[in-house]
Amino acid sequence: MITLLAIWTCQYCGKVTSDVDVDYLSDYDHLSCALNAEMQAKKKTDEYEDCILCGDKTDVLRSTHIDFRTGYIEGAGQLCIKCWNKGTDRRHMAVPMSMVYDTPNDQELGAKVRQLYYENNS
Ligand SMILES: [Zn+2]
Ligand SMILES: [Zn+2]
Repeated sequence: MITLLAIWTCQYCGKVTSDVDVDYLSDYDHLSCALNAEMQAKKKTDEYEDCILCGDKTDVLRSTHIDFRTGYIEGAGQLCIKCWNKGTDRRHMAVPMSMVYDTPNDQELGAKVRQLYYENNS
């Protein structure tokens, strides 16, 4: 009896896959290679958002959910990191710790912090 030994190869990496467990194959290709190729293809078609202010390409993909984005302004669009940093006031203000624990009421504390802010800015 003649046993025909088929030689299968992965079309992505060219390695012989005849002896690879079928669980790790997609047709005759490595499952990992097929998934990789799929991801590469997706990356190519996936576009990056343009910055709504300066028009530069951002590093945010259009497919990224807005919850996971940095610099996205709802109703306006995506900002690049540069414009986002420009638009965000990163100045700090010191709030005495005693003020926090001496004021158990959040609303009262908020009012005190705001008062402090106005004093700092006048
Ligand atoms: Zn492969
Ligand atoms: Zn920008």
